[in-house]
Amino acid sequence: TTMTDSPALAATVDLSAIAHNVRVVAERAGAPVIAVVKADGYGHGAVPVARAALAAGAVELGVAHLTEALTLRAAGIDAHLTSWLHTPGTDFAAGIAAGVDLAISSPRQLAAVVAAARETGTTAIVTAKVDTGMGRSGIAPDEWAQTAADLARAQAEGAITLRAMMCHLAFGDEPDHPMNSQQAAGLDAAAADLARLGVVPEALHLSNSPAALTRPDLSRDLVRPGLALYGCSPIPGMDFGLIPALTLSAEVALVKKIPAGQGVSYGHSWITPRDTTIAVLPAGYADGVPRLISGRFEVSINGRRFPGVGRICMDQLVLDLGPDGGGVSEGDRAVLFGATPAGEPEVPKAVDWAETIGTIDYEIVSGIRGRAQRRYV
Ligand code: PLP
Repeated sequence: TTMTDSPALAATVDLSAIAHNVRVVAERAGAPVIAVVKADGYGHGAVPVARAALAAGAVELGVAHLTEALTLRAAGIDAHLTSWLHTPGTDFAAGIAAGVDLAISSPRQLAAVVAAARETGTTAIVTAKVDTGMGRSGIAPDEWAQTAADLARAQAEGAITLRAMMCHLAFGDEPDHPMNSQQAAGLDAAAADLARLGVVPEALHLSNSPAALTRPDLSRDLVRPGLALYGCSPIPGMDFGLIPALTLSAEVALVKKIPAGQGVSYGHSWITPRDTTIAVLPAGYADGVPRLISGRFEVSINGRRFPGVGRICMDQLVLDLGPDGGGVSEGDRAVLFGATPAGEPEVPKAVDWAETIGTIDYEIVSGIRGRAQRRYV
């Protein structure tokens, strides 16, 4: 797709907001940041976000799939980089060659990494991802003793360097939940087990965004935030001074008058209560606007809010501008969600959509796709 100054549908990413948010999180956590840029940087573009985060002081990067890590390497990013979600088909040799820190979640994954290191005659950088209570990825409690012994042997043989230990919190967004401290203690205990086997990793890390922002006591050597770096609050309702990095905006495609009693969009779920003016925006569910918010959201145009009406379609949605047309013209820019410029009326946020349809803003921002053209400011 070609970039223009005003794409029909634009996902504008403010990299200075990313930089600001990195500093806010590091400051609150009292620890350096591993910037989590998986899922194409939560829908913001992994490579530009990674560069901005590193320039702002983030010390490492984290992703889920090894392929995501290799994409960052291919873009010339040489920062320490950990990937933590592998399948049996994962090309660990490629990860080792690219110097990616491979977080292993089982003795089988460790064995596969060790085999790849032996085959290539190199040393793999490894993180032990421990399941301290998340109940998802991570080395299971009943496999820990075996894995710890295997880690110590592989390190003694030179097949791996155990660089870090990590776990992931199940209740990070409930700061006072007792599981948070329990999981941190579990990670410390696992590290003590390894120390008894003579293996001492450089770094422990567990805190995701909500924990990094609210529980500095859980910060170990590093923290591992994602969402907060993008300026979304990981605990809805709590304001940490983060700036949303992503603004979704559209050019008004069409403005027209329609009479009272006219049904709007598929199924006529909204019928004009009076003569009115509608606007059509080129944004639909194929671009990541959830169909479930039909009739339950507002859009900001020239500082004024207008309600979305009727069903959201694949490519388009409709706004009610009111009888007088609200001063809106075709070609005006409509903000669906994003950051509010200083001194201007508040624009909707991704979290408003999320709360309306019973999900989290992680899903909204990472789901923007389709015809939305990314641009960086
Ligand atoms: N660490 C791991 C292992 C993750 O899977 C994620 C994302 O879910 C994060 C850190 C970042 O979490 P958050 O976006 O809540 O900060």
